Amino acid sequence: MSEERTGTQSTQWFDRALEVLPGGVSSPVRAFRSVGGTPPVIQKGDGAHVWDVDGNRYLDFVGSWGPLILGHANRHVVKAVANSLKRGTSFGAPSAVEIELAAEVVAGYPGIEQIRFVSSGTEAVMSAVRLARGATERDIIVKFSGCYHGHVDHLLVAAGSGLATFGAPSSLGVPEPIASLTRVLPLDDDDALTALFDREGDRVAAAIIEPVPANNGLLLQRPRFLATLRELCTRHGALLIFDEVISGFRLGPGGAAALYGVQPDLATFGKVIGGGMPVGAFGGPRDIMRHLAPTGGVYQAGTLSGNPVAMTAGLTTLKYLRRYDCWQGLEELGQYLKQRLGSVLNRSGVPAAVVRIGSIFWIAWGSTAAPASAEAIHPDAARIYRDVFHGLLERGIALAPSAYEVGFLSLAHTPEHIDRLADALGEVLDNLNSESASTDRAGNEPEGSDS
Ligand SMILES: *Cc1c(COP(=O)(O)O)cnc(C)c1O
Repeated sequence: MSEERTGTQSTQWFDRALEVLPGGVSSPVRAFRSVGGTPPVIQKGDGAHVWDVDGNRYLDFVGSWGPLILGHANRHVVKAVANSLKRGTSFGAPSAVEIELAAEVVAGYPGIEQIRFVSSGTEAVMSAVRLARGATERDIIVKFSGCYHGHVDHLLVAAGSGLATFGAPSSLGVPEPIASLTRVLPLDDDDALTALFDREGDRVAAAIIEPVPANNGLLLQRPRFLATLRELCTRHGALLIFDEVISGFRLGPGGAAALYGVQPDLATFGKVIGGGMPVGAFGGPRDIMRHLAPTGGVYQAGTLSGNPVAMTAGLTTLKYLRRYDCWQGLEELGQYLKQRLGSVLNRSGVPAAVVRIGSIFWIAWGSTAAPASAEAIHPDAARIYRDVFHGLLERGIALAPSAYEVGFLSLAHTPEHIDRLADALGEVLDNLNSESASTDRAGNEPEGSDS
């Protein structure tokens, strides 16, 4: 199906991209490797839509992978950024806007008294982990399989084989000795958690978790599991880090911490906090943050950290969200999406579950039960998603090009946009059902959609 675009300007641009960018992209999932085909090359975005260089319009549920909670090219953000640009792009000195953005975070997030800005989510996590190690004078980090924390060396680690929770590098270039300081546990498993803390809790600097795991499907956790993690960290003197790079300011000003009533020691932010510009941040109580340079011995710095243009995009976004209490509207839109997609899936008979929290959604293909751990995701999910993804893209709807990526709603989405998604999904599933029925009769494979 995706071959239909051969010869378009998108494919010409992407051929050029393949010459000068590894895999044609600046970040791997954009390359369509897991769904096949060639990604459209995007020219512009406005509200809930993006346009490719051939002028095709797509109703967009990727939202730049999370940041664009106000939609593309929101006019308040564009205007504020344009004004900021006229006053210069970077000062390398304190500016009022970074202080204001810090105050927004401090006012909204439970337990945060101070925050430091960086330029990406990865950098936020990397720095928070160093701070945790410096503040506790311990080395071991605990993470959960199915959670993504950016491409930091000590977190690009998968569970080792057998019963061991010892980490093995999940990327070439991550040295074994670094991975060996990371322990990997399954989500949703209180026994494994308790056993690890019993064994070596007193050597753990920090446990890091996405309280709303949204990078390997949407693996919603029982609040009790998060509370147990909190209790174990406290009892053993380890710090709890909530990676709220996706959930922070998307679920509300207090992120998942406020939603579940579980307070971490440190929290990391990215995506929404930068309003579409490169911003990350991490924060916690003064008593921990004082360990950072220049007041403490944990070194951390950045030439473009707290960049005034990026801070302006973030501040404008957060103020808008708060002024109009936008989270309630997003919640209602999310409920509507779940109901509409749920009934389409039901009618189609294709086994799948719509998982949703606030404006984050995911379809768990292959089973009608929502998985709570990476291990519980159905092995057919990626195969089913390939066809669904391309069917929707042909109908002008962009979901993320991977079965394991979530979708995002923004304030630019309306119930009519959700109806379009639901109707298109219904069509795609009807086609798949009739294709597989005729394949069953003919007793052979359907034609491959691409190679
Ligand atoms: C996106 C993401 C990161 C990494 O942020 P980048 O800005 O891509 O470096 C870290 N943690 C979580 C939970 C994320 O979703």
